[in-house]
Amino acid sequence: MNRTASIAKLKTVTFDLCIIGAGASGAGCALDAALRGLNVALIEKDDFAASTSSKSTKLIHGGVRYLEQAFKKMDFGQLKQVRHGLEERYNVIKNAPFLAKPLALLTPCYSWFEGLYFTIGLRIYDAIAGKKDPLPKSRWLSRKAVIKRAQNINPKLHSAVLYYDGHFDDARYCLLLAKTAAEKGAVVANHLQAEAFQHDPVGRLQSVVVTDEMSGEKFEIRARVFLNCAGPAADQLRLMANAELEPRIRPSKGVHAVLPLEVMGSAETALLIPKTTDDRVIFALPWEGKLLVGTTDTPYDSAEEPELESDETDFLLENLNRYLAKPVGREQVLAGFGGLRPLVASDPNRSTKALLRDHEVEQDEKSGLLSLLGGKWTTYRVMAQDAIDEVCRHLAIEALCKTQDQALAGAEGYNPNLSQELVQNKSLSADIAQHLAAKYGSRARALLVLIQENQAWNERLHPSYPFIAAEVVYAVREEMALTLRDMLARRWRLEMMDWQAVQDLIPKVADLMAAELGWSEQQKEAAIVEYGKKIASFQRKVE
Ligand SMILES: Cc1cc2nc3c(=O)[nH]c(=O)nc-3n(C[C@H](O)[C@H](O)[C@H](O)COP(=O)(O)OP(=O)(O)OC[C@H]3O[C@@H](n4cnc5c(N)ncnc54)[C@H](O)[C@@H]3O)c2cc1C
Repeated sequence: MNRTASIAKLKTVTFDLCIIGAGASGAGCALDAALRGLNVALIEKDDFAASTSSKSTKLIHGGVRYLEQAFKKMDFGQLKQVRHGLEERYNVIKNAPFLAKPLALLTPCYSWFEGLYFTIGLRIYDAIAGKKDPLPKSRWLSRKAVIKRAQNINPKLHSAVLYYDGHFDDARYCLLLAKTAAEKGAVVANHLQAEAFQHDPVGRLQSVVVTDEMSGEKFEIRARVFLNCAGPAADQLRLMANAELEPRIRPSKGVHAVLPLEVMGSAETALLIPKTTDDRVIFALPWEGKLLVGTTDTPYDSAEEPELESDETDFLLENLNRYLAKPVGREQVLAGFGGLRPLVASDPNRSTKALLRDHEVEQDEKSGLLSLLGGKWTTYRVMAQDAIDEVCRHLAIEALCKTQDQALAGAEGYNPNLSQELVQNKSLSADIAQHLAAKYGSRARALLVLIQENQAWNERLHPSYPFIAAEVVYAVREEMALTLRDMLARRWRLEMMDWQAVQDLIPKVADLMAAELGWSEQQKEAAIVEYGKKIASFQRKVE
């Protein structure tokens, strides 16, 4: 993950494959391609996972809602999707067990009939996951047992069904896909924007012109195949390759609000809200010591970054409050964020709620551009497998996919007792040790080496959070963090958890990044002001 070295290679090598966009799809494809021995480049205009892939609900799931739809509409396509999701749930957790974990969810029931309906439905969900699936199986809970688990739940319920899915840190998972790909030979760089393709005399793509967003420099990257993994922005690249193509992506906005965990009265159990006022489901999930509430589903056609708006905050709180004993108010919102689902339109007149969440590998015959469209986080690995199978066909290379058992960076040599080991051997405080083990897995040991190098980097940076200075140094040196937002929104997830704490931490993080990256005093001040203003504008929208 050395950006300077990557850029030098990007300028000189002709790659087998150049992947544009480093969200879940692009980073997953880069790892798959590198493991098959392809000479692969991965470029990203912003940061790894900066777009949709850091803004999901963080569930690794087959989708209980899709299961219901499959039976109600006798739609076997949806059933297949649920099965794929559940198979991949197992792989996502297995390959980075420190970052992705099982999560217990409550489905509230308001009559014995609902209790029976959800019990049967979730038993089917368990059965599709299969006997070998290690997650606990679903079970019915009495009203008393529900209240014991979630003390602030509205007691006017009959019972609940408890079931399990996976949840994870989406941005760090994406970063680790890119990092593992780099360790397997992929040439990876963030903050490089694809601006235009160069075509050969018969119209096939031969290179892409990129702008380095950090230096302003423009240069060309040459490759035999180009793979578009731009998610919601995929149409821009498709049209850049061939202006005659019809747009396919119908972006759908989804937002989340973040509240104190005490709102649910439970640290461990999530709540599935089975019916919102617009007839969907939303979740209230414990995540990073907070309660993540979302999401919405509305068409979006602006080029601006989607954000949590005032009316959307009201919508989420109103729907959550129907299920709580003591309602929450706007003043309790700590943070929030919006993302765009890259839904693929087969019929442009259908609503975004009805569009397929499945994926497709599209090939443009004229330019040769391959595009990986649609999909969801949970199934990133099979999406990548399908895309790289297609790339191999184009390159006339026979190589099988090897990602199923590929441990991600930090999963090698990881053991679940790592945090105790860090407390005992390295005298770290318990919360810091837990945080380092949960975010870096076995690579947490590399942070300890940094602390040995400089004891000042052992400093806790915020009284309410376990973040230490060494992490900033590590993020710059080993994880390609280049901006304050790279650090505070994605290497750490604080921008998604607590806007006020971000404002508190900006100056300290800026000092550390400036020293590592060689920023002048003026550059540092400009970075502080710019990011501080962005966070303040998020805050104003939910006041
Ligand atoms: C609100 C919400 C909740 C969700 N919840 C879940 C969930 O709980 N579980 C689940 O499985 N899925 C979930 N999803 C779906 C999942 O998050 C997405 O399917 C997935 O993250 C899409 O990944 P991607 O790589 O295709 O797109 P993105 O993450 O958007 O990545 C595309 C990348 O391409 C880059 N790019 C674009 N143009 C260029 C260019 N010109 N040059 C270079 N780079 C470029 C972008 O900057 C971006 O980083 C959710 C989605 C949303 C919106």
